[in-house]
Amino acid sequence: MSFQKPDTDIIIAGGGLVGLTLALALSGTKNRPTNLDITLVDPTDPEIVKADSRAFSISASSKNLLEALDIWDTLADNAQPVSEIEITDTKLSEEIRPVLLHFDNETEDGEPAAYIIESGLLRSALFQATKNFTSIQFQPPGRITGFETSGQSITATLDNNKTLSGKLLVACDGRASALRQKAGIKTVEWKSKQTGITATISHSLPHNGRAIQHFLPAGPFAMLPLTGNRTSLVWTEKQNVAQEVMLYDDERFLAEVQKRANIDLGDLSLENRPSFFPLSMNIARDYVKERFALVGDSAHGMHWVAGQGLNFGFRDVAVLAELVIKTQRLGLDIGNANVLQDYQRWRRFDSFTFTASMAALNSLFSHDNFATRAVRDIGLQATNQIPALKKFFIKEATGLSGELPRLLKGERL
Ligand SMILES: Cc1cc2nc3c(=O)[nH]c(=O)nc-3n(C[C@H](O)[C@H](O)[C@H](O)COP(=O)(O)OP(=O)(O)OC[C@H]3O[C@@H](n4cnc5c(N)ncnc54)[C@H](O)[C@@H]3O)c2cc1C
Repeated sequence: MSFQKPDTDIIIAGGGLVGLTLALALSGTKNRPTNLDITLVDPTDPEIVKADSRAFSISASSKNLLEALDIWDTLADNAQPVSEIEITDTKLSEEIRPVLLHFDNETEDGEPAAYIIESGLLRSALFQATKNFTSIQFQPPGRITGFETSGQSITATLDNNKTLSGKLLVACDGRASALRQKAGIKTVEWKSKQTGITATISHSLPHNGRAIQHFLPAGPFAMLPLTGNRTSLVWTEKQNVAQEVMLYDDERFLAEVQKRANIDLGDLSLENRPSFFPLSMNIARDYVKERFALVGDSAHGMHWVAGQGLNFGFRDVAVLAELVIKTQRLGLDIGNANVLQDYQRWRRFDSFTFTASMAALNSLFSHDNFATRAVRDIGLQATNQIPALKKFFIKEATGLSGELPRLLKGERL
């Protein structure tokens, strides 16, 4: 039987933050490249940075991964360490808003447990890094519309009717993943009418590295410190209210921010117009099919309340890259079922429990029932009194617990 060599080794559908990081992780380093051929497909031109006003909380383990991929150095000057986290749970009308839970945000080694990085900077650093590898190719802008597996390869069809074959197809096409649907993979979904409003503000007083999560009846209002006297906002509102907020002029927007901020940052100004993100939450029941894997939001679309969606995507990347490269070095088929089953075993349970608990946390906090609020406030205050429990939460959030893939420990593949 004749075997036709596929066009590429790995096809990645989606050149978002996770797709780009996966391409880099699979490529190794400049000094020790894997020479795996990677082809990325995305509807947008990769030279055009999709800057939105989001900023991401990057956990200590994600920082390790970015270091191991030689990207952290280009980001470090613009990465703001988060030194402490405050959590409050009050109504806007309440004059006094006690801090119910406070964390010193450090790892066991005394390093920052998280950094805040702006979306455009991260995307640009990842895209620039792909230029170090001739083995990473970008298709002209377009979408993958379908795929078919046959023997040792999988063939994707693009919306220009071109086909592309590889040994493995990885869907990094986001939480509404069309490829997940094409693969017939079902999801568990959580309904939500929330929208996230993001914006960057400048202020005259320093934030001192403090991040604030203010639980309000409409949803969490987060203030994430950026480098300089700047803060990234994630303001959650019901969809109809968010539509009204879209129409606010800068002055009205900032006045509403000031009402919600539990901190005096002095004079405020807006650095960019707000962006809007309607919330959908889902998790895939399976992460793999024959020669096919889900990575990032296509596998788990979680609430932004804990700032972990991208970090979980990076964990998927670290695991899949380690398994694929190990298999390649053994001279075996990188798209074989064992690799994919190992990936699913390592990642699915972790993401499922976290995505479900964040959906539950959001519904516990996003209403104003007196009894529920009393119980959750007692819970927050009790947690605040138990240092060991707080350390446990910080360790979980850093992604440094459990069975770690090498990239999350900062080791090169
Ligand atoms: C308001 C907000 C705040 C957040 N804050 C944090 C945070 O602080 N920390 C954190 O860790 N996470 C955070 N997240 C989550 C984080 O943004 C996501 O987890 C992450 O961006 C997902 O990246 P992705 O590449 O998997 O998906 P996406 O960013 O959705 O990228 C999908 C890509 O696939 C492409 N695509 C779609 N369909 C196709 C197709 N058929 N063929 C080819 N390409 C296709 C799209 O063009 C896109 O480029 C936040 C999210 C929101 C909304």
